[in-house]
Amino acid sequence: MQNPKYIFVTGGVTSSLGKGIISASLAKLLQARGYSVTIQKFDPYINVDPGTLNPYEHGECFVTDDGAETDLDLGHYERFLNTPTSQANNVTTGRIYQYVIEKEREGAFLGKTVQVIPHITDEIKRRMKLIGETGKYEIIITELGGTVGDIESLPYIEAVRQLRWELKQEDCIVVHLTLLPYLATSHELKTKPTQHSVKLLLESGIQPDILVCRSEHPISKEIKKKIALFCNVTPNAVIEALDMPTIYDVPIAMQKEKLDKTVLGKLKLSSKNEPDMDSWLNFLTKHKNPKHEVKVGLIGKYVELPDAYKSIIEAFVHAGASNECKVKLEYIHSELITDENANQKLGHLDGILVAPGFGGRGIDGKIIAVKYARENKIPFFGICLGMQISVIEFARNVLGYKDAHSTEMNAKTKFPVIDLMPDQKKITSKGGTMRLGAYTCELSKDSKAYKAYDKTKITERHRHRYEFNSKFAKDFEKSGMHITGINPDTKLAEIVEVKDHPFFVGVQFHPEYKSTVLTPHPLFVKFIKAAVEYSNS
Ligand code: GLN
Repeated sequence: MQNPKYIFVTGGVTSSLGKGIISASLAKLLQARGYSVTIQKFDPYINVDPGTLNPYEHGECFVTDDGAETDLDLGHYERFLNTPTSQANNVTTGRIYQYVIEKEREGAFLGKTVQVIPHITDEIKRRMKLIGETGKYEIIITELGGTVGDIESLPYIEAVRQLRWELKQEDCIVVHLTLLPYLATSHELKTKPTQHSVKLLLESGIQPDILVCRSEHPISKEIKKKIALFCNVTPNAVIEALDMPTIYDVPIAMQKEKLDKTVLGKLKLSSKNEPDMDSWLNFLTKHKNPKHEVKVGLIGKYVELPDAYKSIIEAFVHAGASNECKVKLEYIHSELITDENANQKLGHLDGILVAPGFGGRGIDGKIIAVKYARENKIPFFGICLGMQISVIEFARNVLGYKDAHSTEMNAKTKFPVIDLMPDQKKITSKGGTMRLGAYTCELSKDSKAYKAYDKTKITERHRHRYEFNSKFAKDFEKSGMHITGINPDTKLAEIVEVKDHPFFVGVQFHPEYKSTVLTPHPLFVKFIKAAVEYSNS
């Protein structure tokens, strides 16, 4: 295979412009033309990975098959491209420094002063090229987190500058994402912030090749020309990126703006065919023309910040489209649910999902929500902590184990129905030490899970320390909560189901990480199907 081509995506003017979605959309279009593409993200913060970050800080932590705890943008990459990412696809400043410092301690630089340039920038460049060197991809898109001008972004920008110098001009391009603010009083789109952010890049030695301009209003030909002239790019390289109704419209909008064609032109790659977006458009049509509507409650404690549940929310979009159903998600704060208000908060729902989480805050409300779903036969889906809560609820209210709990919340409970996994007991360090990544699970044929997956062997991704305590398995089985998915190697319980119920499924893993536009997750699909049936009944 030829040397891979590199596309770097930087951001200017403000944060939150949607670099991840633009990167994923561009990748999608290139993939749909027949290119093998992957996306990686370099984040400028000092955490070694986002695994130790509170969701309020940084939204959801996405987990890959190989057990990396990563930025939520990797979720978008996978959902758009339908191909898995890995540990190598997300790198932080913390990881770079950790590696360089460890090497320094080993004596790798004996006698030398270890410096940002060249040691840190060399390590950044090495990692930027790592995936490319596998030979698996023709095009590597690298999204740089942060905004141009941030102090902490400087080593990354310098690394890109050096790479551009080292590689052939047509092997490495920079796409810069900016904002054109609209001044309502003068009815004008302003280009100055874009010009300034390009100047900032130029000060660091980088001339961007393409500008993707976020805007609330269409960008006229004149404005595009002005931006091209002042920012020194070709006129076709100013791309309009209007606000879209959904993130899934962005690839189509970018196709209309010919972003993919312009990129291929700059990389001197053939356009091959027009992008084959049929299955994508088919998904969009179903998503936008639902025949049904259901209300699903997402019960969690981070509901003020929906980004904390990004993959779950997107999995509902995929499962909704597959059922031709609009899923109206209601974010319900678990701390606000009480026995007294349960009916008012949950009574109108067609499905209840209890979300993943850590620690004791909001647990009581989650238990009440599970009880309400179980008793009123409302479709229920529990994910990770949500599954653990369903076990605790069943123990307390069906088995009569009054203080049953997870030892995460109550270390002294008489009924530790959820307990620390044995191999977790000695671990004290927090970063990257949970049970992480893909594990196999075997399904019993007589289960909702088997019906959903239509096979007995599955693999799903994990991120937890606690597990179902199998000492109590028999009691649960006798009373109607069944373990329908088991890890064949460790015998850990991965799925619980209550049989006498239209849909009551709790999973110890995170199915949401594997749902994509083209492959909606089977459990989400069946959960929504059950919610549609419930709403019709
Ligand atoms: N806190 C629970 C555990 O560590 C659940 C984790 C989760 O929901 N991701 O096992």
